[in-house]
Amino acid sequence: MITTSRRDLILSAAVAGAALGLDNSLAIAAPARRQRTPDPAQGFVRYKVGAAECTALYDGIWEKAHDAAYFSNATVAETKEALAAAGFTTAFVTIPITVFVIKLNDKLILCDAGGGDQVQAFNPKSVSVSGKMMANMKAAGIDPKKIETILISHFHPDHIFGLLEKGTNAPVFPNAEIIVPAAEYKWWTDPSLINRLPEGRRPLARRIQTVIPNWKNVLPVEGEDEVVPGIRFVSAPGHTPGHTAFHVSSGNAQLMISNDAAYVPALCVGHPSWHGAFDQDGPMAEVSRRKLLDRVVTDQMMICGSHFPWPGLAKIEKDGAGYVLATVRAS
Ligand SMILES: [Zn+2]
Repeated sequence: MITTSRRDLILSAAVAGAALGLDNSLAIAAPARRQRTPDPAQGFVRYKVGAAECTALYDGIWEKAHDAAYFSNATVAETKEALAAAGFTTAFVTIPITVFVIKLNDKLILCDAGGGDQVQAFNPKSVSVSGKMMANMKAAGIDPKKIETILISHFHPDHIFGLLEKGTNAPVFPNAEIIVPAAEYKWWTDPSLINRLPEGRRPLARRIQTVIPNWKNVLPVEGEDEVVPGIRFVSAPGHTPGHTAFHVSSGNAQLMISNDAAYVPALCVGHPSWHGAFDQDGPMAEVSRRKLLDRVVTDQMMICGSHFPWPGLAKIEKDGAGYVLATVRAS
């Protein structure tokens, strides 16, 4: 029986690379980690909110390696405990990416655009997969050319890179009107921002500044306007300066598309006071999170979010100082 150790394989790859004149650093690069969470059997789920038809589209998943800096006021052990209590693996943090298409009054509205297969996991122990939204949109029978309006919650890569073609930055939806929170637009497109950002965040700001202000179909909207009939912006700053949720109402039915206000519910709904490194302003994000969740509880509306357990639809109840989430398995 022949056994070949991983080290031997890496070394032989390096030798082969050298023989071909390749840069050895490429030849010996560790193979990319594989996604361990299976994709849903069907990458779209449809449900009704009054007369509005909501289609959840699976875009991908980030299997985030544990990191002591993830929360400023919770340890890795506490994070794992919260994940286990919610029935998740503790091997990594499971962060699915879901986008939503709302059909209301014969209009098709896309809510955020996913990561477009362009989101990088900075930690080599993490896995980041995105860009499945388009295939799942087609599988759901939605023609991307018929999307008239796109609402954007904030300018993080897993929410906007699906608007940009990989490699060229060409618009994926050139004919749709893209409505963005004015506060978010102003913050990211300020030329003085680049030097104020940590090094790792600068490429994102540069890409936004190179592309978004030149698109004629981007409309920044102030405050909490009704941006399309039946859908209103809800300010929820802190995650980013202009982070915004979307409130859908039809008849007596309401749905809060919370985007990243409650991020990973196993962590942020059960422990709303945990301040994540992903929230630019932790205390402000907590105020926004509690305000949004209190409104959802008081009005007994449905809630979904970009990183909720697939397919994202849930109900929330108050539980002492925190909240408890019950996922609704819609199909
Ligand atoms: Zn996100």
